[in-house]
Amino acid sequence: MPSEFDLIRRHFTRPARHTTLSVGDDAALLTPRAGMQLAVSTDMLVAGTHFFADAEPKALGWKTLAVNVSDLAAMGAEPRWAVLALSLPAADEAWIAAFARGFFACADAFGVDLAGGDTTRGPLNLCVTIFGEVPAGAAITRGGARAGDDLWITGKPGHAALGLAHLRGEAALAPAAAHTCLAALHRPQPRVAFGQALRSVASAMLDVSDGLLGDLGHILESSGCGARIEVEALPLAALRACGADEALARRCLLSGGDDYELLFTAAPSRREHLAALAGKHGLPLSRIGTITAKTDELVLREADGREHTTAHAGYDHFA
Ligand code: ADP
Ligand code: MG
Repeated sequence: MPSEFDLIRRHFTRPARHTTLSVGDDAALLTPRAGMQLAVSTDMLVAGTHFFADAEPKALGWKTLAVNVSDLAAMGAEPRWAVLALSLPAADEAWIAAFARGFFACADAFGVDLAGGDTTRGPLNLCVTIFGEVPAGAAITRGGARAGDDLWITGKPGHAALGLAHLRGEAALAPAAAHTCLAALHRPQPRVAFGQALRSVASAMLDVSDGLLGDLGHILESSGCGARIEVEALPLAALRACGADEALARRCLLSGGDDYELLFTAAPSRREHLAALAGKHGLPLSRIGTITAKTDELVLREADGREHTTAHAGYDHFA
């Protein structure tokens, strides 16, 4: 049996690129660059709640870091360091090696140094704390949306939820569509570069992890406003093209989790600039509605003009 220290040395110790003191001491030393604020976030993934215990470890390693990277993207911050707390049922070296490969693939993709962590025996549980930098005062919070702002979402929201529906047997997708949707579920692509490009453009922002409507509710609550979503403007076509019927496409897009797309608001005067940014980043971008003055009221307007108010029901772990 490898010892805890062997495991750490073999699988979680890599040359640091920008860490003053990395894995191996009692604490890491991180040195933010001048004029930068630290943006800090933690996300925990628990077997049985966030992933199946038999999930493929390399994909799990990617996702464990990617969901944290996404939180920094949503602040307009640049990810720099992470620490990893692992609770593992057994010292299964093949599993740990594959997990570490996925984790470091994501770390390399987004310039993150693994600066430390903790490794213990217990139920499978993966917790990352991530540290990033953002120019002082430039972070994009949830609280800046104003009546009249446009509401935007990046990428292809709903694909991860459609992949999960496929795994659960609630949708039967053709192989190519299943591949696309399962990639979205297992290998989310945090919108880091785009998030940083939205500094001084977006008035409020978050990353959608628990469903678009529920997460939009957080912006409305923090900003003290409401929203009207134009159903016709929702990027449902990509989900229909994957084989989802209308009801499933709508459910996946509005309430499905695991998107890790950026949901943000911006003044209408920024439309042209945003279209140009989307082109430059090669990222689909949908303008799906408007911020209104009615605190906490969320209205869906159908293609035929009918309107109905809706609860912002996202995923609540304790509901
Ligand atoms: P201590 O007992 O002082 O808390 P540990 O034995 O837990 O130290 O950890 C030794 C070193 O290995 C520390 O620098 C810690 O940050 C690092 N470490 C432990 N587990 C991990 C991990 N999963 N990934 C990266 N670094 C880790
Ligand atoms: Mg320790």
